[in-house]
Amino acid sequence: MAELHQKIVGYDLWYLKLPVTSRRDHGIGSVAGTCEVVVLRLTSEDGTEGFGEASPWSVFTGTPEATYAALDRYLRPLVIGARVGDRAAIMQQAMHAVAHCTEAKASLETALIDLAGRISGVPVWSLLGGRCRDAIPLSCSIANPDFSQDIELLARLREDGVRIVKLKTGFKDHAFDIMRLEHIAQNFPEFSVRVDYNQGLEIEEAPNRVRDVAGFKPDFIEQPVRSHHYGMMAKLRQMFDVPLLADESVFGPEDMERAAREGICDGVSVKIMKSGGLTRGQTVARIAAAHGLTSYGGDMFEAGLAHLAGTHMIAATPEITLGCEFYQASYFLREDILEDPFQISKGQVVVPTGPGLGGRPDISKLNRYAVATAVAA
Ligand SMILES: [Mg+2]
Repeated sequence: MAELHQKIVGYDLWYLKLPVTSRRDHGIGSVAGTCEVVVLRLTSEDGTEGFGEASPWSVFTGTPEATYAALDRYLRPLVIGARVGDRAAIMQQAMHAVAHCTEAKASLETALIDLAGRISGVPVWSLLGGRCRDAIPLSCSIANPDFSQDIELLARLREDGVRIVKLKTGFKDHAFDIMRLEHIAQNFPEFSVRVDYNQGLEIEEAPNRVRDVAGFKPDFIEQPVRSHHYGMMAKLRQMFDVPLLADESVFGPEDMERAAREGICDGVSVKIMKSGGLTRGQTVARIAAAHGLTSYGGDMFEAGLAHLAGTHMIAATPEITLGCEFYQASYFLREDILEDPFQISKGQVVVPTGPGLGGRPDISKLNRYAVATAVAA
């Protein structure tokens, strides 16, 4: 494929603030008003474009300001003039060019694969090992401090055929969490329920509270305590027969290796924004599977472009068996940034079949929501 020898000549950025429909409370913090993402566009010599999205959250992965600076100042020089096909070399250099900033690296790898896919006329999943599934079960999070609004959302989800919800817990009080679990069990029995504390519990209160929640027999309970409390995670895992999942405790393959060795979880949330790219996300899932652990496709507060990247990764990774939670573009943002809506059908995310990511952002929306840009004239 001589086309992949061509050079990358364009590198443009948009820092976006996207209005959202409601407040979301998680154990470690809240999102209200807008969520902030950065979009990268790469252009090759023949004029083909590839896009990637970075979706940081300051209390979890990092800040949008650091993400934008990483892309604009530290990663740009590695990419301009590089060959489109040299993705592995570029990503290896990116690993060392700037510490952390995993969301920036995820957006870079997304844009590189999208570009290569569009030039070659093949979907991103085919460049990640080939497809193992056509659709991915969707989980939607229940995280509104006003539960009456979430009851309306639950009814809408049921109507839409969604059958998995994740209850966000540990941000208000224990009675609020138990009340919501009881309400969902009684009024929405169609849903399988997952519980995610997002590190919301102190270690001294975690055993009793997790015991009460485990009594509802959710599919799993995720990250009850702070990311570095590996010892308490390992203890909680032994105390109850509901699977315990790690999220904030595991960013990349290096964390996954340690988490498996120390027995802190039965499964893991794989996110490209944590791992620093699609390839490293696949590696996390494979290390987990090699240790007999499950995984699902998690996400941050993302727009549809990042959802597409995650969808292609899961489509090409048989080890990720527990579905995905790419709901924000459809159920949280006032308006997504994609030209065509992110596809969900009967509660399943549809794996695209077109070249590259199979979808692209609407440039007029990027310009409308941008608070900073670095776009060539
Ligand atoms: Mg989580």
